[in-house]
Amino acid sequence: MSFVFSPSPTPSVAIAGTQSRFPVHRIYCVGRNYAAHAREMGKDPEREPPFFFTKPADALVENNAVIPYPTRTANLHHEIELVVALAKGGKSIAAANALEHVFGYAVGNDLTRRDLQFEARDKGRPWDTGKAFDRSAAIATIRPASEGHLSKGRIWLKVNGESRQDADIADLIWNVPEVIAELSTLFELAPGDLIYTGTPAGVNSLKPGDKIEGGVDGLETLVTTIAR
Ligand code: MN
Repeated sequence: MSFVFSPSPTPSVAIAGTQSRFPVHRIYCVGRNYAAHAREMGKDPEREPPFFFTKPADALVENNAVIPYPTRTANLHHEIELVVALAKGGKSIAAANALEHVFGYAVGNDLTRRDLQFEARDKGRPWDTGKAFDRSAAIATIRPASEGHLSKGRIWLKVNGESRQDADIADLIWNVPEVIAELSTLFELAPGDLIYTGTPAGVNSLKPGDKIEGGVDGLETLVTTIAR
């Protein structure tokens, strides 16, 4: 087969312990999956289950990148998240079997143009301009699930050394198996899918020159710098 021009390269993520990379198919994200964050967004976690949105695979940003402050926003926010990488796809996956589909785990930052997201939310419009913009999906190295699955442990984020987010992934409203099970009833999942599982409370603004460090116990720390 020939193409009329060269296809875009396949987005990929580094894997701990190997030079081989994880080829990315799609990026799914869970909204409001920690109760304290749902409250800070003005929502009641008891009344509204988490929901999903997506980012394009080529929105990925590698660890230690310096990225420009995005256009058309005056309120860029950080959202530190546990990211699940899938090795196996499927539809209507049972939660009891869901972890068999996991390739590994990484730390991610769901960068958000909060002003555009809120405008879209309040007007009943799609979230793409607020969530799915270029370089909006920072991610560190994936740790293979052969080193163990993650269901608890500290999740944290600092900006210029100052703590902004500090919680535990045990506080996810929907845990990883439940997220995979629910998502697989809406979309047929595929090898290479990434799932950003939601951010805890403490999301806040970033400015040019900020150094963002974030982690989950047991995973490589994610460092991203906003260019001056
Ligand atoms: Mn998020």
